[in-house]
Amino acid sequence: MNACVEYTGHISKAGYGLRYYAGKTRLAHRVAYCLSERIDIGALPSSTVIKHSCDNPRCVNPEHLSAGTQSDNCKERSVRAARGEKRKLLPEQVLSIRARDPGKKGRTSAAKQISAEYNVNESTIRNIWYGKYWEHV
Ligand SMILES: [Zn+2]
Repeated sequence: MNACVEYTGHISKAGYGLRYYAGKTRLAHRVAYCLSERIDIGALPSSTVIKHSCDNPRCVNPEHLSAGTQSDNCKERSVRAARGEKRKLLPEQVLSIRARDPGKKGRTSAAKQISAEYNVNESTIRNIWYGKYWEHV
């Protein structure tokens, strides 16, 4: 990932850059996202959150920004916070592991192989298939 571009103007109490744009003071990263995606900022629903992949609220680098919902944002943030600690798998990896569920009979041998690929316990792989783990993904 390339470096953050920190907004140099006014910063809100919450740490976000604020920029006067199209007649209103707006969140600078929302403006940056709309400009880069060529979206009319007025057409961006307020329920759409512009997320920072870098967790740096004042960053306005469009490559670090993506649109989503508030709940995605919270989920991703907690996944990042936990990365390298308890949970070793990313949501995308869980989805691809889930997609490789061979069905009841093949699970034991497939879990062995996949757990080695991802460097996790076999039980983690089986639990993903059983739906005991990562149900929210
Ligand atoms: Zn950034």
